[in-house]
Amino acid sequence: MVLLFATLVILSFLCTVPGRVRVAVRLRPRNAEEMMADADFADCVEVQPELKRLKLRRNNWDSDTYEFDEVLTEFASQKRVYEVVAKPVVESVLDGYNGTVMAYGQTGTGKTFTLGRLGDGDASDRGIMVRSMEDIFADLSPDTDFVTVSYLQLYMETLQDLLNPANDNIPIVEDPRNGDVSLPGATLVEITDQQSILELLRVGEANRVAANTKLNTESSRSHAILMVHVKRSVVDSEDVVSTENNDASRLTKLSKPVIRKSKLVVVDLAGSERVHKSGSEGHMLEEAKSINLSLSSLGKCINALAENNAHVPFRDSKLTRMLRDSFGGTARTSLIVTIGPSPRHRGETSSTILFGQRAMKVENMLKIKEEFDYKSLSRKLEIQLDKLIAENERQQKAFEDEVEKVNLEAQCRIAEVERNFADALEKERLKCQMEYMELVKELEQKLVLNQERHDCNNFVADNGEINTSIFTCPNVKSFNNLAGGIIFFSHGPASSSADEVAEAKMLLETERNRRKAAEEEVERLKSQLGKHTQAENFFSIHSSRMNSVGLQKILSLLESDDANVRIHAVKVVANLAAEEANQKRIVEAGGLSSLLMLLRRYEDETVRRVAAGAIANLAMNEANQELIMTEGGITLLSMTASDAEDPQTLRMVAGAIANLCGNDRILMTLRSQGGIKALLGIVRCGHPDVLSQVARGIANFAKCESRASNQGIKSGRSFLIEDGALPWIVQNANNEAAPIRRHIELALCHLAQHEVNAKDLISGGALWELVRISRDCSREDIRNLARRTLSSVSTFKSELRRLRIDY
Ligand code: ADP
Ligand code: MG
Repeated sequence: MVLLFATLVILSFLCTVPGRVRVAVRLRPRNAEEMMADADFADCVEVQPELKRLKLRRNNWDSDTYEFDEVLTEFASQKRVYEVVAKPVVESVLDGYNGTVMAYGQTGTGKTFTLGRLGDGDASDRGIMVRSMEDIFADLSPDTDFVTVSYLQLYMETLQDLLNPANDNIPIVEDPRNGDVSLPGATLVEITDQQSILELLRVGEANRVAANTKLNTESSRSHAILMVHVKRSVVDSEDVVSTENNDASRLTKLSKPVIRKSKLVVVDLAGSERVHKSGSEGHMLEEAKSINLSLSSLGKCINALAENNAHVPFRDSKLTRMLRDSFGGTARTSLIVTIGPSPRHRGETSSTILFGQRAMKVENMLKIKEEFDYKSLSRKLEIQLDKLIAENERQQKAFEDEVEKVNLEAQCRIAEVERNFADALEKERLKCQMEYMELVKELEQKLVLNQERHDCNNFVADNGEINTSIFTCPNVKSFNNLAGGIIFFSHGPASSSADEVAEAKMLLETERNRRKAAEEEVERLKSQLGKHTQAENFFSIHSSRMNSVGLQKILSLLESDDANVRIHAVKVVANLAAEEANQKRIVEAGGLSSLLMLLRRYEDETVRRVAAGAIANLAMNEANQELIMTEGGITLLSMTASDAEDPQTLRMVAGAIANLCGNDRILMTLRSQGGIKALLGIVRCGHPDVLSQVARGIANFAKCESRASNQGIKSGRSFLIEDGALPWIVQNANNEAAPIRRHIELALCHLAQHEVNAKDLISGGALWELVRISRDCSREDIRNLARRTLSSVSTFKSELRRLRIDY
């Protein structure tokens, strides 16, 4: 973090102004005693307030005239006296100057009246002390300013705390550097409200009375000193200039904290009359001298100051030490001299007036006592620094957060764009690849077609005649459909193909005749149906509840001469075979042989369908599968398949063969006895349920075969390929019926695992399907299997490379 260091130029203006001691004279009205005693005499003074003059009668015809700063008549109100005498001083104190208000005069002339009246009964009587403190307090701001008060009495050079009278020997300590006087130990009471001002003065007055009683003296012999300390915090922002970067806008931002300490001293002096005149207190002379030492020292100091003497004997008394700043010092000082009108006290009045006159000549140099508040500045700067640090950290954090946020957003956006781009790219790539693959596929098919067409042309040329119903447009697909999926086109010589076709035609004709005869036979048998209801009842009873005798009986009925009986019997056996629990017994009782016999002997399709269903059920059991094989089951099932028209029959046969296809042990036999070809023959029936069974059979076979190849039991191309199943497999690999598709996809994957099949798979178009399976197959395991196979079988890899398909 970068800390800003500002160079602060602190300018301080301390005012020093000349300020002469201001002196007012106040004339007390005649008191009752004077009214009486002086009734016949004129006052010795005549006041001319408008001229600020006072005439002191010398005798009946002569008088001396004196000018004062203010002349206050006997009618002057306390308020006016305050405003004229004290208020300017109070204002100066509030401005930071020291101030002094002092009353001087003969006992009984109204010093205490002028300064100390509390105005309990009548607020207008309030004297200068109360009014000053009230004005000061009213002007202060409680948060930043303090006002504390001490109230002392000086008697016989002893300083006593009027707020704590027990503290009666307070030392006066002067600061050698600046001459500031302090009174360690004097009680300082903080003024917190207007009410406490009066209470404090009341306590002080009471203590003054009590102290005087104790000392057997009068208040007129002691000096009362009220000290009001004012401490104000002043913020002078204009004085603080930041020069950082020469940036003027920061000029007033920092402030200079200043503490102004000022002090108002209100002194109610002891009576100024000479000691000998008032020696009635019974003090010894020395004591009397001591009593007035401070007062006479004050007079001497004032004289010295008035005459501009080099030496002013401030140190002679405690009072002058305390008032050093008030006369000839830095304070604004106002003196009120009080006089009475009585001619009897003319001498005292005269000396009072002369004291006042001399005091008027004292020049002070008013100076604000201002202290630079380093503590406060340091505190403020620390706080400001803390704030700046916190703000900076906050901004830094906010900035970092913002950067992070922007970063994150940018990253998210980049990631999103990249993702979208990658997706789009991948889609585009796949699309191109698929298009490319389709194109290649199409081209290769065209190539095959052209070759076939070429062969075909050769064939026509060789034989001169052709059965167009079979050979028109001999592409693989249409050929397969026409030939029922059993007879496969061979690329051998054209003549042998023609023989095969002729043979097939013959077979077909024979079969048709047979079917016709069989249908006639069925009709005949149906007419006998009514006769055998009894037998049917018997069968239906036994179909649900069977004992071995019953089973034997039913099985024997399978060989009945009566076709209806046979039909019903085979239905019962099929029902029984559907339950796994019966299967073993049926086989043991020779049921399987009987059922196979039905396939062999009878051409009634219902019988064969039901028998095939029963065999399919029995073929679910592995133990029966070999038996079925040994008894030539495959051949019989193949025959049934090639004869049957009914999809149900075909479904049963296909189901039975599919079950057998799942047996590793009979794999070879199954194939050699034409199992696969039988399955392929069945596909001529387009019924999805039938195709699904075929597909299952092929998948089972492919799986067993793959296992056998892996175990080294079998070598060479897949029998499925050998037996021509590949075209159908490829054709149905993406069949819309999910069960068919799933079985074929699996079969393809098994086939593809063996390098030996790869070439055929490629030429048969299976590669495309494998690629599709690896991408689109809904089953993840098959998808992965296809992917693994494509990337591990080298023929595929090179073909994919040749086709420029990334894998
Ligand atoms: P000092 O303190 O100078 O000895 P005080 O203030 O005690 O004199 O006054 C003596 C008496 O004169 C008191 O009773 C006081 O009330 C009365 N007095 C003084 N000045 C005035 C005045 N201006 N108006 C009316 N009474 C006054
Ligand atoms: Mg008094």
